[in-house]
Amino acid sequence: MCPVARRLVNGEGGLFESGTLPCHCLLIETDHHGLVLVDTGYGTSDLADPEGRLGPMRHVLNWNRDPKGTAIAQVEALGFARDDVRHVVVTHLDLDHAGGLSDFPNARVHLLAAEHDAALRPTTRLEHQRYRSAQWAHGPEWRTYASKGEAWKGFECVRELDGLPPELLLVPLSGHTRGHAGVAIDAGSRGWLLHAGDAYFFRGRLAQAPWAPPGIALFERLAALDTNAMIANRERLRELRARETDVRIFCAHDPVELASMRS
Ligand SMILES: [Zn+2]
Repeated sequence: MCPVARRLVNGEGGLFESGTLPCHCLLIETDHHGLVLVDTGYGTSDLADPEGRLGPMRHVLNWNRDPKGTAIAQVEALGFARDDVRHVVVTHLDLDHAGGLSDFPNARVHLLAAEHDAALRPTTRLEHQRYRSAQWAHGPEWRTYASKGEAWKGFECVRELDGLPPELLLVPLSGHTRGHAGVAIDAGSRGWLLHAGDAYFFRGRLAQAPWAPPGIALFERLAALDTNAMIANRERLRELRARETDVRIFCAHDPVELASMRS
């Protein structure tokens, strides 16, 4: 299998920088496993019922309410139907990543067990705020995985995702949330892609001399369940970028990274 990766921009909510905050989703066409969507952004039900679906956080996130920005609208614009998306792999279940799950109700949803646990049985105040059970009230077909597995470029990874090819891996990167993970994809001659989710929020974090604007740095800390783990995993990603030239790393919310991946 040689997956062909296409990228989708999804719901945008302005917190930082230029006033827009994309949620970078990735649609992967596979030869034998249908379409695979990595993260879902906001969904059509969030647009229809922001109060019920997003709760008080809707006031914090200046999100884009254009229906054309949803993953389902962009999947359909490419000529596909919703049920062509047979699998969704989520980096984590924060409300800005999981809202589109209900637009693909028949897809199998893959994630780390620790994240599933955190979202369905939140224990801390932060976990109660960040997860919205309405976003998975349709009852997805969950597939959960322990955080340990095989080795991948200096990281641990989970390679055997139920029904998915071995070229698609979950890479545990906890810190932002309890069971946060990156998703690595072997894109054949294009090398590896690593969707790092919210392991970092700004491209400068992976630079040789890492930095971030103060507002982003503050938000990263406020949103982190475990700040030390977040910083440690971010540093590992920075080292990975310096070490491995065949891995393109991008996070969920950096508009410049998104633009560079689409060009
Ligand atoms: Zn996010």
